Amino acid sequence: MTFEDLKLAESLLRAVKEEGYNTPTPIQQQAIPHVLEGKDVLGCAQTGTGKTAAFTLPILQRLFVGRPPPPARGRPIRALVLSPTRELAAQIGDSVRAYGRYTGLTSAVIFGGVGQSAQEQTLRQGVDILVATPGRLLDLMNQGFVSYKALEVFVLDEADRMLDMGFIHDVKRVIAALPRPRQTLFFSATMPPEIQGLANSILVKPVRVEVAPVSTTAETIDQRLYFVEKEQKRGLLVHLLNSDQGIQRALVFTRTKHGANRVARHLESAGIGAEPIHGNKSQNARERALAAFKSGACRVLVATDIAARGIDIDGISHVINFDLPNIPETYVHRIGRTGRAGAAGIALSFCDSEERAYLKDIERTIRRRVPVVEAGVHRSALVSPPESDERPPRRDAPPRQQARPQSSGGGSRPNNPPRGERGPDNRNGGNRGGRRGGRDGRGGGSGGRSQEARPQARNDRPQQQAQPEQRPAPAPISQRPRPSKWL
Ligand code: AMP
Repeated sequence: MTFEDLKLAESLLRAVKEEGYNTPTPIQQQAIPHVLEGKDVLGCAQTGTGKTAAFTLPILQRLFVGRPPPPARGRPIRALVLSPTRELAAQIGDSVRAYGRYTGLTSAVIFGGVGQSAQEQTLRQGVDILVATPGRLLDLMNQGFVSYKALEVFVLDEADRMLDMGFIHDVKRVIAALPRPRQTLFFSATMPPEIQGLANSILVKPVRVEVAPVSTTAETIDQRLYFVEKEQKRGLLVHLLNSDQGIQRALVFTRTKHGANRVARHLESAGIGAEPIHGNKSQNARERALAAFKSGACRVLVATDIAARGIDIDGISHVINFDLPNIPETYVHRIGRTGRAGAAGIALSFCDSEERAYLKDIERTIRRRVPVVEAGVHRSALVSPPESDERPPRRDAPPRQQARPQSSGGGSRPNNPPRGERGPDNRNGGNRGGRRGGRDGRGGGSGGRSQEARPQARNDRPQQQAQPEQRPAPAPISQRPRPSKWL
Protein backbone atom coordinates (compact mmCIF):
# COMPACT_ATOMS: atom_id res chain seq x y z
CA MET A 1 0.00 0.00 0.00
CA THR A 2 1.20 3.54 -0.76
CA PHE A 3 0.29 6.91 0.71
CA GLU A 4 -1.40 7.68 -2.63
CA ASP A 5 -3.70 4.68 -2.04
CA LEU A 6 -4.81 6.33 1.20
CA LYS A 7 -6.23 9.18 -0.88
CA LEU A 8 -4.32 11.90 0.86
CA ALA A 9 -4.27 15.38 -0.63
CA GLU A 10 -1.38 16.35 -2.88
CA SER A 11 0.01 18.83 -0.34
CA LEU A 12 0.22 16.11 2.28
CA LEU A 13 1.74 13.56 -0.10
CA ARG A 14 4.42 16.07 -0.93
CA ALA A 15 5.26 16.65 2.72
CA VAL A 16 5.26 12.93 3.47
CA LYS A 17 7.65 12.34 0.59
CA GLU A 18 9.96 15.04 1.89
CA GLU A 19 9.95 13.30 5.27
CA GLY A 20 11.32 10.30 3.39
CA TYR A 21 8.37 7.99 4.09
CA ASN A 22 7.79 5.46 1.33
CA THR A 23 5.03 3.29 2.68
CA PRO A 24 2.47 3.84 5.40
CA THR A 25 3.11 1.89 8.61
CA PRO A 26 0.48 -0.68 9.69
CA ILE A 27 -1.20 1.75 12.10
CA GLN A 28 -1.32 4.37 9.36
CA GLN A 29 -2.80 1.89 6.90
CA GLN A 30 -5.45 0.90 9.40
CA ALA A 31 -6.34 4.25 10.91
CA ILE A 32 -6.06 6.85 8.15
CA PRO A 33 -9.08 5.72 6.06
CA HIS A 34 -11.36 5.72 9.12
CA VAL A 35 -10.17 9.07 10.39
CA LEU A 36 -10.67 10.54 6.92
CA GLU A 37 -14.27 9.28 7.05
CA GLY A 38 -14.78 11.18 10.28
CA LYS A 39 -15.12 8.09 12.47
CA ASP A 40 -14.04 7.86 16.08
CA VAL A 41 -11.00 5.63 16.52
CA LEU A 42 -9.72 3.60 19.44
CA GLY A 43 -6.08 2.90 18.69
CA CYS A 44 -3.93 0.45 20.63
CA ALA A 45 -0.47 1.57 19.60
CA GLN A 46 2.68 2.95 21.12
CA THR A 47 4.99 5.72 20.12
CA GLY A 48 7.37 4.41 17.50
CA THR A 49 4.70 2.76 15.37
CA GLY A 50 4.03 5.83 13.23
CA LYS A 51 0.94 6.64 15.25
CA THR A 52 1.44 10.41 15.15
CA ALA A 53 1.19 10.51 11.37
CA ALA A 54 -1.72 8.06 11.60
CA PHE A 55 -3.83 10.73 13.24
CA THR A 56 -2.08 13.92 12.11
CA LEU A 57 -2.25 13.32 8.35
CA PRO A 58 -5.99 12.67 8.15
CA ILE A 59 -6.77 15.49 10.59
CA LEU A 60 -4.76 17.90 8.46
CA GLN A 61 -6.61 16.67 5.41
CA ARG A 62 -10.03 17.10 7.01
CA LEU A 63 -9.23 20.58 8.25
CA PHE A 64 -7.53 21.55 5.00
CA VAL A 65 -10.25 20.32 2.64
CA GLY A 66 -13.09 21.75 4.66
CA ARG A 67 -11.21 24.92 5.50
CA PRO A 68 -13.34 28.00 6.00
CA PRO A 69 -11.67 31.30 5.09
CA PRO A 70 -9.47 32.35 8.04
CA PRO A 71 -11.25 34.95 10.16
CA ALA A 72 -9.89 38.47 10.33
CA ARG A 73 -8.92 38.07 13.97
CA GLY A 74 -8.09 34.92 15.86
CA ARG A 75 -8.39 31.55 14.19
CA PRO A 76 -10.51 29.22 16.25
CA ILE A 77 -9.04 25.95 17.50
CA ARG A 78 -10.35 23.21 15.21
CA ALA A 79 -8.31 20.29 16.49
CA LEU A 80 -6.94 19.61 19.97
CA VAL A 81 -4.30 16.96 20.72
CA LEU A 82 -3.66 16.14 24.38
CA SER A 83 -0.33 14.54 25.22
CA PRO A 84 1.01 13.51 28.63
CA THR A 85 4.52 14.97 28.38
CA ARG A 86 6.06 18.00 26.90
CA GLU A 87 8.54 15.91 24.91
CA LEU A 88 5.78 14.02 23.23
CA ALA A 89 3.77 17.21 22.76
CA ALA A 90 6.78 18.83 21.11
CA GLN A 91 7.27 15.82 18.86
CA ILE A 92 3.65 15.87 17.82
CA GLY A 93 3.90 19.61 17.21
CA ASP A 94 6.94 19.03 15.00
CA SER A 95 5.04 16.39 13.06
CA VAL A 96 2.00 18.62 12.59
CA ARG A 97 4.23 21.37 11.25
CA ALA A 98 6.19 19.02 9.01
CA TYR A 99 3.23 17.17 7.53
CA GLY A 100 1.12 20.31 7.28
CA ARG A 101 3.75 22.59 5.80
CA TYR A 102 1.91 22.93 2.48
CA THR A 103 -1.60 23.23 3.89
CA GLY A 104 -1.50 26.74 5.33
CA LEU A 105 -2.92 25.39 8.59
CA THR A 106 -1.38 26.76 11.77
CA SER A 107 -0.48 24.95 14.97
CA ALA A 108 1.03 25.54 18.40
CA VAL A 109 2.34 23.46 21.27
CA ILE A 110 1.74 24.45 24.87
CA PHE A 111 3.06 22.82 28.01
CA GLY A 112 3.93 23.74 31.55
CA GLY A 113 7.22 24.69 33.09
CA VAL A 114 7.77 27.63 30.78
CA GLY A 115 6.40 31.16 30.85
CA GLN A 116 2.76 31.49 29.99
CA SER A 117 2.63 34.84 28.22
CA ALA A 118 3.87 33.63 24.82
CA GLN A 119 1.25 30.91 24.97
CA GLU A 120 -1.48 33.43 25.82
CA GLN A 121 -0.37 35.51 22.85
CA THR A 122 -0.47 32.49 20.55
CA LEU A 123 -3.95 31.58 21.70
CA ARG A 124 -5.13 35.15 21.19
CA GLN A 125 -3.85 35.08 17.64
CA GLY A 126 -5.48 31.71 17.19
CA VAL A 127 -4.33 28.41 15.72
CA ASP A 128 -6.05 25.65 13.79
CA ILE A 129 -4.39 22.82 15.69
CA LEU A 130 -3.40 22.96 19.34
CA VAL A 131 -1.14 20.34 20.93
CA ALA A 132 -1.04 20.55 24.71
CA THR A 133 -0.25 18.83 27.97
CA PRO A 134 -3.27 18.76 30.27
CA GLY A 135 -2.05 20.82 33.26
CA ARG A 136 -1.06 23.99 31.44
CA LEU A 137 -4.02 23.70 29.11
CA LEU A 138 -6.40 23.62 32.07
CA ASP A 139 -4.68 26.66 33.58
CA LEU A 140 -5.14 28.58 30.34
CA MET A 141 -8.72 27.36 29.99
CA ASN A 142 -9.53 28.49 33.52
CA GLN A 143 -8.10 31.90 32.72
CA GLY A 144 -10.35 32.20 29.68
CA PHE A 145 -7.68 31.98 26.98
CA VAL A 146 -9.09 28.92 25.22
CA SER A 147 -12.28 28.61 23.21
CA TYR A 148 -13.46 25.31 21.77
CA LYS A 149 -16.48 26.71 19.90
CA ALA A 150 -15.10 25.59 16.53
CA LEU A 151 -13.51 22.32 17.70
CA GLU A 152 -13.97 19.48 15.22
CA VAL A 153 -11.44 16.85 16.29
CA PHE A 154 -10.05 15.81 19.66
CA VAL A 155 -7.12 13.43 20.06
CA LEU A 156 -6.20 11.87 23.37
CA ASP A 157 -2.72 10.44 22.99
CA GLU A 158 -1.10 7.94 25.37
CA ALA A 159 -4.16 7.72 27.58
CA ASP A 160 -2.64 5.02 29.80
CA ARG A 161 0.36 7.19 30.46
CA MET A 162 -1.97 10.01 31.48
CA LEU A 163 -3.35 7.64 34.08
CA ASP A 164 0.10 6.52 35.25
CA MET A 165 1.30 10.06 35.60
CA GLY A 166 -1.72 11.16 37.57
CA PHE A 167 -3.16 13.45 34.91
CA ILE A 168 -6.37 11.59 34.29
CA HIS A 169 -8.53 14.02 36.29
CA ASP A 170 -7.11 16.98 34.40
CA VAL A 171 -7.82 15.11 31.18
CA LYS A 172 -11.41 14.51 32.21
CA ARG A 173 -11.82 18.19 33.04
CA VAL A 174 -10.54 19.18 29.63
CA ILE A 175 -12.83 16.68 27.92
CA ALA A 176 -15.83 18.01 29.87
CA ALA A 177 -15.26 21.40 28.25
CA LEU A 178 -15.20 20.07 24.68
CA PRO A 179 -18.24 20.45 22.44
CA ARG A 180 -20.30 17.71 20.81
CA PRO A 181 -20.55 16.58 18.13
CA ARG A 182 -16.90 16.10 17.39
CA GLN A 183 -14.57 13.40 16.15
CA THR A 184 -12.54 11.72 18.90
CA LEU A 185 -9.37 9.69 18.39
CA PHE A 186 -8.15 7.81 21.43
CA PHE A 187 -4.71 6.19 21.60
CA SER A 188 -3.30 4.05 24.36
CA ALA A 189 -0.58 1.42 24.47
CA THR A 190 -2.45 -0.59 27.08
CA MET A 191 -6.10 -0.71 28.12
CA PRO A 192 -6.43 -0.91 31.89
CA PRO A 193 -10.08 -0.83 33.05
CA GLU A 194 -10.09 2.86 33.90
CA ILE A 195 -8.79 3.73 30.44
CA GLN A 196 -11.28 1.40 28.77
CA GLY A 197 -14.02 3.11 30.81
CA LEU A 198 -12.86 6.54 29.69
CA ALA A 199 -12.76 5.36 26.08
CA ASN A 200 -16.28 3.97 26.35
CA SER A 201 -17.54 7.24 27.77
CA ILE A 202 -16.12 9.54 25.12
CA LEU A 203 -16.04 7.52 21.88
CA VAL A 204 -19.04 7.07 19.64
CA LYS A 205 -19.11 3.80 17.67
CA PRO A 206 -15.31 3.72 17.47
CA VAL A 207 -13.33 1.68 15.01
CA ARG A 208 -10.64 -0.26 16.84
CA VAL A 209 -7.16 -0.39 15.34
CA GLU A 210 -4.25 -2.19 16.89
CA VAL A 211 -0.58 -2.84 16.22
CA ALA A 212 2.08 -4.84 18.03
CA PRO A 213 3.96 -2.97 20.73
CA VAL A 214 7.24 -1.50 19.58
CA SER A 215 9.10 -3.09 22.46
CA THR A 216 8.92 -6.46 20.71
CA THR A 217 11.13 -5.31 17.85
CA ALA A 218 14.00 -4.79 20.25
CA GLU A 219 14.25 -8.50 20.88
CA THR A 220 15.87 -9.30 17.55
CA ILE A 221 18.74 -6.85 17.84
CA ASP A 222 22.06 -7.47 19.52
CA GLN A 223 22.26 -4.71 22.12
CA ARG A 224 25.27 -3.66 24.18
CA LEU A 225 25.81 -1.02 26.75
CA TYR A 226 28.86 1.00 27.73
CA PHE A 227 28.93 2.88 31.00
CA VAL A 228 31.05 5.87 30.17
CA GLU A 229 31.35 9.43 31.40
CA LYS A 230 30.06 12.18 29.17
CA GLU A 231 33.50 13.56 28.39
CA GLN A 232 34.78 10.10 27.42
CA LYS A 233 32.06 9.35 24.93
CA ARG A 234 33.78 10.80 21.89
CA GLY A 235 36.99 8.95 22.66
CA LEU A 236 35.08 5.71 23.09
CA LEU A 237 33.32 6.22 19.79
CA VAL A 238 36.59 6.75 17.94
CA HIS A 239 38.07 3.74 19.70
CA LEU A 240 35.20 1.51 18.68
CA LEU A 241 35.19 2.71 15.09
CA ASN A 242 38.96 2.25 14.80
CA SER A 243 39.12 -1.12 16.47
CA ASP A 244 36.11 -2.82 14.95
CA GLN A 245 36.04 -2.91 11.19
CA GLY A 246 32.78 -4.80 11.51
CA ILE A 247 31.21 -1.39 12.03
CA GLN A 248 30.71 -0.77 8.36
CA ARG A 249 27.86 1.69 8.36
CA ALA A 250 26.95 3.32 11.65
CA LEU A 251 24.07 5.60 12.50
CA VAL A 252 25.02 7.58 15.59
CA PHE A 253 22.30 9.36 17.57
CA THR A 254 22.89 12.49 19.59
CA ARG A 255 20.39 14.44 21.63
CA THR A 256 21.02 17.83 20.07
CA LYS A 257 21.95 19.32 16.75
CA HIS A 258 25.10 20.87 18.20
CA GLY A 259 26.00 17.51 19.63
CA ALA A 260 25.65 15.95 16.18
CA ASN A 261 27.95 18.59 14.70
CA ARG A 262 30.51 18.14 17.45
CA VAL A 263 30.59 14.37 17.15
CA ALA A 264 30.85 14.45 13.36
CA ARG A 265 33.68 16.99 13.54
CA HIS A 266 35.50 14.91 16.11
CA LEU A 267 35.23 11.78 13.98
CA GLU A 268 36.42 13.65 10.89
CA SER A 269 39.41 14.96 12.80
CA ALA A 270 40.18 11.38 13.81
CA GLY A 271 40.15 10.38 10.15
CA ILE A 272 36.75 8.67 10.23
CA GLY A 273 34.33 9.76 7.51
CA ALA A 274 31.24 11.23 9.19
CA GLU A 275 28.38 13.55 8.27
CA PRO A 276 25.94 15.25 10.64
CA ILE A 277 22.28 15.42 9.74
CA HIS A 278 19.81 17.56 11.64
CA GLY A 279 17.13 20.18 11.36
CA ASN A 280 19.51 23.11 10.87
CA LYS A 281 20.85 21.56 7.69
CA SER A 282 19.32 22.54 4.37
CA GLN A 283 17.43 19.93 2.43
CA ASN A 284 20.34 19.79 -0.03
CA ALA A 285 22.90 19.27 2.71
CA ARG A 286 20.80 16.50 4.21
CA GLU A 287 20.41 14.78 0.88
CA ARG A 288 24.14 15.02 0.22
CA ALA A 289 24.90 13.54 3.64
CA LEU A 290 22.44 10.71 3.10
CA ALA A 291 23.80 9.98 -0.37
CA ALA A 292 27.37 9.84 0.97
CA PHE A 293 26.25 7.50 3.75
CA LYS A 294 24.29 5.27 1.40
CA SER A 295 27.14 5.01 -1.09
CA GLY A 296 29.61 4.19 1.68
CA ALA A 297 31.61 7.37 1.03
CA CYS A 298 31.11 8.20 4.68
CA ARG A 299 30.99 5.48 7.29
CA VAL A 300 29.09 7.32 9.98
CA LEU A 301 25.95 9.42 9.91
CA VAL A 302 25.42 11.44 13.09
CA ALA A 303 21.76 12.31 13.51
CA THR A 304 19.22 13.77 15.88
CA ASP A 305 16.00 11.83 16.27
CA ILE A 306 13.94 14.30 14.34
CA ALA A 307 16.38 14.47 11.44
CA ALA A 308 16.57 10.69 11.33
CA ARG A 309 12.84 10.39 10.77
CA GLY A 310 12.05 8.52 7.67
CA ILE A 311 15.67 7.62 7.02
CA ASP A 312 15.29 4.19 5.58
CA ILE A 313 18.69 2.85 4.69
CA ASP A 314 19.50 -0.79 4.24
CA GLY A 315 22.67 -2.24 5.61
CA ILE A 316 23.13 -0.11 8.72
CA SER A 317 25.44 -2.46 10.61
CA HIS A 318 25.39 -0.51 13.87
CA VAL A 319 23.18 2.00 15.60
CA ILE A 320 25.10 3.87 18.27
CA ASN A 321 23.26 5.77 20.95
CA PHE A 322 25.87 8.38 21.76
CA ASP A 323 23.26 9.91 24.04
CA LEU A 324 20.51 7.77 25.51
CA PRO A 325 17.05 9.04 24.65
CA ASN A 326 14.75 10.03 27.50
CA ILE A 327 11.79 8.45 25.73
CA PRO A 328 12.13 4.66 25.87
CA GLU A 329 10.23 4.10 22.63
CA THR A 330 12.72 6.35 20.88
CA TYR A 331 15.41 3.87 21.86
CA VAL A 332 13.41 1.06 20.33
CA HIS A 333 12.80 3.07 17.24
CA ARG A 334 16.45 4.05 16.90
CA ILE A 335 17.81 0.54 17.22
CA GLY A 336 15.16 -0.71 14.82
CA ARG A 337 17.09 1.01 12.06
CA THR A 338 19.67 -1.70 12.16
CA GLY A 339 18.94 -5.36 11.62
CA ARG A 340 16.31 -4.65 9.02
CA ALA A 341 14.75 -7.45 7.01
CA GLY A 342 16.24 -10.19 9.12
CA ALA A 343 19.82 -8.92 8.78
CA ALA A 344 21.93 -8.99 11.92
CA GLY A 345 21.98 -5.64 13.63
CA ILE A 346 23.97 -4.33 16.53
CA ALA A 347 23.02 -1.46 18.78
CA LEU A 348 25.62 0.10 21.07
CA SER A 349 24.57 2.55 23.75
CA PHE A 350 26.67 4.92 25.80
CA CYS A 351 25.25 5.68 29.22
CA ASP A 352 26.70 8.37 31.46
CA SER A 353 25.85 9.00 35.07
CA GLU A 354 23.05 11.40 34.23
CA GLU A 355 21.43 8.92 31.90
CA ARG A 356 20.93 6.10 34.39
CA ALA A 357 17.29 6.90 34.83
CA TYR A 358 16.73 6.81 31.08
CA LEU A 359 18.40 3.41 30.94
CA LYS A 360 16.09 2.16 33.62
CA ASP A 361 13.04 3.27 31.66
CA ILE A 362 14.40 1.75 28.46
CA GLU A 363 15.05 -1.60 30.08
CA ARG A 364 11.58 -1.57 31.53
CA THR A 365 10.07 -0.91 28.16
CA ILE A 366 12.04 -3.57 26.31
CA ARG A 367 11.66 -5.87 29.30
CA ARG A 368 15.25 -6.94 29.37
CA ARG A 369 18.58 -5.66 30.51
CA VAL A 370 21.03 -4.48 27.93
CA PRO A 371 24.27 -6.44 28.31
CA VAL A 372 27.12 -4.32 29.61
CA VAL A 373 30.43 -4.24 27.76
CA GLU A 374 33.73 -3.56 29.46
CA ALA A 375 34.69 -0.16 28.17
CA GLY A 376 38.41 -0.63 28.81
CA VAL A 377 40.37 2.55 29.09
CA HIS A 378 37.27 4.61 28.61
CA ARG A 379 35.28 3.00 31.29
CA SER A 380 33.28 5.16 33.52
CA ALA A 381 34.30 5.95 37.05
CA LEU A 382 30.76 5.20 38.00
CA VAL A 383 29.88 2.65 40.55
CA SER A 384 26.75 0.66 41.16
CA PRO A 385 23.50 2.55 40.99
CA PRO A 386 22.46 3.77 44.40
CA GLU A 387 19.78 1.82 46.19
CA SER A 388 17.16 4.38 45.31
CA ASP A 389 17.74 3.66 41.66
CA GLU A 390 16.86 0.03 41.99
CA ARG A 391 14.12 -1.57 40.07
CA PRO A 392 11.00 -2.96 41.57
CA PRO A 393 11.40 -6.59 42.55
CA ARG A 394 10.13 -9.15 40.13
CA ARG A 395 8.20 -11.99 41.45
CA ASP A 396 8.68 -14.48 38.65
CA ALA A 397 12.25 -13.75 37.66
CA PRO A 398 14.73 -16.56 37.45
CA PRO A 399 18.20 -15.76 38.81
CA ARG A 400 19.96 -13.31 36.57
CA GLN A 401 22.63 -14.37 34.15
CA GLN A 402 25.16 -11.66 33.81
CA ALA A 403 25.95 -11.00 30.16
CA ARG A 404 29.67 -10.50 29.92
CA PRO A 405 30.88 -9.76 26.43
CA GLN A 406 34.61 -10.09 26.15
CA SER A 407 35.60 -7.58 23.58
CA SER A 408 35.83 -3.89 24.02
CA GLY A 409 35.71 -3.30 20.32
CA GLY A 410 32.44 -5.03 19.73
CA GLY A 411 33.91 -7.77 17.56
CA SER A 412 32.35 -10.56 19.52
CA ARG A 413 28.75 -10.62 20.49
CA PRO A 414 27.48 -10.77 23.98
CA ASN A 415 25.02 -13.44 24.85
CA ASN A 416 21.55 -12.12 24.76
CA PRO A 417 19.79 -12.55 28.01
CA PRO A 418 17.60 -15.60 27.94
CA ARG A 419 13.98 -15.05 27.08
CA GLY A 420 13.08 -16.27 30.50
CA GLU A 421 14.44 -13.03 31.83
CA ARG A 422 11.65 -11.09 30.37
CA GLY A 423 9.59 -9.85 33.19
CA PRO A 424 5.94 -9.05 33.45
CA ASP A 425 4.81 -5.91 31.80
CA ASN A 426 5.17 -3.65 34.74
CA ARG A 427 4.51 -0.53 32.78
CA ASN A 428 1.36 0.26 34.63
CA GLY A 429 2.78 -0.15 38.02
CA GLY A 430 6.20 1.20 37.39
CA ASN A 431 7.63 4.54 36.66
CA ARG A 432 5.90 5.25 33.45
CA GLY A 433 6.56 8.83 33.91
CA GLY A 434 9.96 8.03 32.66
CA ARG A 435 9.78 10.61 29.94
CA ARG A 436 11.67 12.99 31.96
CA GLY A 437 11.97 16.43 30.74
CA GLY A 438 14.50 19.05 31.35
CA ARG A 439 17.31 17.43 29.45
CA ASP A 440 16.07 16.58 26.05
CA GLY A 441 14.36 19.88 25.49
CA ARG A 442 12.64 18.64 22.38
CA GLY A 443 11.47 21.96 21.06
CA GLY A 444 7.87 22.87 21.53
CA GLY A 445 6.39 25.83 23.25
CA SER A 446 4.16 28.18 21.44
CA GLY A 447 6.93 30.60 20.92
CA GLY A 448 8.78 28.32 18.51
CA ARG A 449 11.36 27.31 21.06
CA SER A 450 14.41 25.66 19.57
CA GLN A 451 15.06 21.99 19.95
CA GLU A 452 17.94 22.64 22.21
CA ALA A 453 15.83 24.64 24.66
CA ARG A 454 15.54 23.14 28.11
CA PRO A 455 12.43 24.33 29.86
CA GLN A 456 11.34 22.84 33.15
CA ALA A 457 8.07 21.07 32.79
CA ARG A 458 5.32 21.79 35.22
CA ASN A 459 3.70 18.47 34.69
CA ASP A 460 6.72 16.32 34.36
CA ARG A 461 7.68 14.13 37.20
CA PRO A 462 10.58 15.15 39.33
CA GLN A 463 14.00 14.26 38.05
CA GLN A 464 15.26 10.97 39.37
CA GLN A 465 18.78 10.87 38.26
CA ALA A 466 21.33 8.67 39.87
CA GLN A 467 24.14 10.57 41.43
CA PRO A 468 27.55 9.01 41.09
CA GLU A 469 28.86 8.03 44.45
CA GLN A 470 32.33 9.09 45.48
CA ARG A 471 34.15 5.89 46.18
CA PRO A 472 37.77 5.15 45.45
CA ALA A 473 38.89 2.59 42.88
CA PRO A 474 35.66 1.19 41.54
CA ALA A 475 35.64 -2.30 40.08
CA PRO A 476 35.55 -2.54 36.30
CA ILE A 477 32.06 -1.87 35.13
CA SER A 478 31.33 -5.23 33.61
CA GLN A 479 32.39 -6.92 36.86
CA ARG A 480 30.16 -4.83 39.00
CA PRO A 481 27.46 -6.91 40.53
CA ARG A 482 24.19 -5.37 39.66
CA PRO A 483 21.68 -5.43 42.44
CA SER A 484 19.71 -8.63 42.09
CA LYS A 485 16.45 -6.77 42.58
CA TRP A 486 17.13 -4.56 39.63
CA LEU A 487 14.58 -5.77 37.12
P1 AMP B 1 5.60 7.87 16.03
O1 AMP B 1 5.10 6.52 16.41
O2 AMP B 1 4.53 8.71 15.47
O3 AMP B 1 6.36 8.54 17.13
O4 AMP B 1 6.63 7.67 14.84
C1 AMP B 1 7.85 7.04 15.02
C2 AMP B 1 8.83 7.42 13.95
O5 AMP B 1 8.46 6.84 12.71
C3 AMP B 1 8.99 8.89 13.70
O6 AMP B 1 10.37 9.17 13.66
C4 AMP B 1 8.35 9.10 12.35
O7 AMP B 1 8.98 10.15 11.67
C5 AMP B 1 8.59 7.79 11.68
N1 AMP B 1 7.56 7.45 10.68
C6 AMP B 1 6.24 7.67 10.77
N2 AMP B 1 5.60 7.20 9.69
C7 AMP B 1 6.54 6.65 8.90
C8 AMP B 1 6.51 5.98 7.63
N3 AMP B 1 5.38 5.77 6.99
N4 AMP B 1 7.68 5.56 7.12
C9 AMP B 1 8.84 5.76 7.79
N5 AMP B 1 8.94 6.37 8.98
C10 AMP B 1 7.80 6.81 9.54
